[in-house]
Amino acid sequence: MQPIDHIHHISAIVGDPQANVAFYREVLGLRLVKQTVNFDDPHTYHLYYSNQAIENGTIITFFPWANAHPGRVGSGQVGRIAFRIPKDSSDYWQTRLNQAGIAVQESTLFKQKTLELADVHDLALALVEAEETADTPDILGFHGAVLLSAQPEATIQTLTQDLGLQMIDKTETSSHFLTTGKLHHEIVVPHQALPAGRWGVGTVHHIAWSVPTDEAQKEWQAYLYDQQYGVTEIKDRQYFHAIYFQEHGSIVFEIATEAPGFLVDEPLASLGEALKLPPQFEAQRADILAHLPQLNID
Ligand code: ZN
Repeated sequence: MQPIDHIHHISAIVGDPQANVAFYREVLGLRLVKQTVNFDDPHTYHLYYSNQAIENGTIITFFPWANAHPGRVGSGQVGRIAFRIPKDSSDYWQTRLNQAGIAVQESTLFKQKTLELADVHDLALALVEAEETADTPDILGFHGAVLLSAQPEATIQTLTQDLGLQMIDKTETSSHFLTTGKLHHEIVVPHQALPAGRWGVGTVHHIAWSVPTDEAQKEWQAYLYDQQYGVTEIKDRQYFHAIYFQEHGSIVFEIATEAPGFLVDEPLASLGEALKLPPQFEAQRADILAHLPQLNID
């Protein structure tokens, strides 16, 4: 079985969907690539964004719960989500964020200059410079994420022994890992467990790891089952196939396939412009539309 190559997507819970669209498209400059519904709760949106080139390994998704309470960030969750920006673009981003009224704090969370910020729903984000320059300052994709484990040693074991991530550093306060693929996504596990988190607005729901094929996913499912993780059946998420399990530090991990991808139900030119429903919900389209808040995508 191949080690995990890169992050497939990260999914978070936020508030008003229009505010989510404004922040991720206009402030961060990401591309809205899919408007659909939460397949487990079809009266709420599920919004997908990627980098401008719509590359694999750059997908962040949101469940906008317009009237929900704030969650509590804590153990058993993915913490801060980090995006990678081109080398020497930190000053550009600092100015751009400040002009948008977003407070930015510098840190070394990812072992180098890190710009920490919160989105419009108080979701913790970061921007970290890549080693390469680029023609534009656009976000390249994920840099990585912080995992707030309830059992850091167990989570570290899962990352290295099961998922095959490589440990690159260990300090008194945190351990750092890289995925094996060329994207080199960086995962930070703080050693001190926080009080348990609670899902709600401004918290991450899960992180998904990419596998190349359905066959590889089946192998992972069998392996995780043998390792006594409570792994789910394979779920058809229309744009990929997914299995889920809770690792021993209580964080929800997903393993997702790259195929069939976002062009399965709309062309590239109009990606993300219209609400797409999977076949099982088409018969309920009128009812679903009546319950979803209005969303303007111009
Ligand atoms: Zn997912």
